[in-house]
Amino acid sequence: MADDSLVAKKILLIVLDGASDRPVGGKTPLAVAGMSNLNKLANGGINGIMDTVGPGIRPGSDTSHLAILGYDPYKYYTGRGPFEAAGVGIDVKGGDIAFRVNFATVENGAVTDRRAGRISDTDELAKAINEQVKVPGVDIIFKRSTGHRAALVLRGKGLSPAITDTDPKHEGLPIKESHTTADTPEAKRTAEIVNSISEQVIKALDHHPVNESRRKQGQLPGNAILIRGAGEVPHIPPFEEKYGMKGAVIAAAGLIIGIGKMCGLEYLPVGSMEIETSGSSAAAKMQKALEALKTYDFVLVNIKGADEAGHDGDFDKKTKFLRDTDRAFEELLLLKETLIIVTVDHSTPVSLKDHSADPVPVLMHGPGIRIDDVSHYNELEAYKGGLLRIRGMDIMPIALDLVNKTKKFGA
Ligand code: ZN
Ligand code: ZN
Repeated sequence: MADDSLVAKKILLIVLDGASDRPVGGKTPLAVAGMSNLNKLANGGINGIMDTVGPGIRPGSDTSHLAILGYDPYKYYTGRGPFEAAGVGIDVKGGDIAFRVNFATVENGAVTDRRAGRISDTDELAKAINEQVKVPGVDIIFKRSTGHRAALVLRGKGLSPAITDTDPKHEGLPIKESHTTADTPEAKRTAEIVNSISEQVIKALDHHPVNESRRKQGQLPGNAILIRGAGEVPHIPPFEEKYGMKGAVIAAAGLIIGIGKMCGLEYLPVGSMEIETSGSSAAAKMQKALEALKTYDFVLVNIKGADEAGHDGDFDKKTKFLRDTDRAFEELLLLKETLIIVTVDHSTPVSLKDHSADPVPVLMHGPGIRIDDVSHYNELEAYKGGLLRIRGMDIMPIALDLVNKTKKFGA
């Protein structure tokens, strides 16, 4: 029998979204931030670096989180439509056909603004679409997102994602007709449905009170939608079935919440859905996580602010965010029966203002860990650690072994 006191029972996986960087003057924000609590965890744990998807692959937050949760993104990532739809809070189901959508302005049959004057008051317009646009035998689920963006889901039998976009890409052109990209009756039907929706939306929105009042104020009406990025929502094996563990996700970003839900993690909300820009909401998330560990075997926490600062190209803001966030980790040092994993989903170097393929640091801390000599949590120290260089898809197998939930391979 295993000695239970030496084996972790729960897994807490913390993802510092986009925290990893390239050195500026020899140092990265993680190194400059001086994260004393994370450094203590690194000091008492095993460290390494990780290619979340693969060496040289620049991951999105969606593909990297899939990989970190042990779902091969090359198998389960079926395009932006499904993940955006999940991200705006549509409870997508395997087999749904999902799209990204823009509100646009159409005048005399031509698209005059692909973003409808950067419209943002789209609540009532979305409601009108859900109430008035109908296609027999198919459920149409439409949800607004931020600004002019929205998502569309078609649910029903005999549908296919093998169709083209309706976005003409340039102003002055009419909305495109969707065509099939595969010669199947399902694709033909889906293209017809999408074309019908395009037409019905214009009828439903052109004289909508919101648009009439926008016209009066000299603003462009949001009287049409452009539909693109068709993808079939993947059939993802639920987390609990796959790993025999009950899991939860704590995040503020819609995309991460959506991915968590698609993988069968329970979403545990913390306060508002706003993207955090200071360390304070990291504290609220960690409190929630510690509470959740009493009920769940696995808790994923995504902390978003460093990625934003990376996209802004703001080294100091990124550093400050990380330093503030570190205060939220003090109580982690007291956790006894939990395997704590702290990693990053991708680098967002301030020098690039975008994601890069540079590998990210990863640390594991908990009972039974082979403690290495690394004493600081950052990209440049992590190279020296005992985990060496792993891939995102390796995290869950390693974690499962440490909580004694892997099956033996061979006799
Ligand atoms: Zn990310
Ligand atoms: Zn990003």
